[in-house]
Amino acid sequence: MPEKGWSILTVREGTAKKVKDLAHTRGLTVDEFINELMNPSGKTGWLNHPLCGAEVKSKNLNEHITKVHPNRKSSKAD
Ligand SMILES: [Zn+2]
Repeated sequence: MPEKGWSILTVREGTAKKVKDLAHTRGLTVDEFINELMNPSGKTGWLNHPLCGAEVKSKNLNEHITKVHPNRKSSKAD
């Protein structure tokens, strides 16, 4: 284990392969991908930023807004 707090899930090999493929397709780790499945509001996923159409990891959205749209920092409605 790389660090405390990790555990092993027992799944069929085919399932594990599919989960890894899906996660990597989205640019996520398996851990992030599974968390996204359990959290449909998508805190760890990617989204298209409506202002510029860029693909942004939603957890990096604040950073993206600060860097790319410094004037839009406070407008959450956009
Ligand atoms: Zn943007």
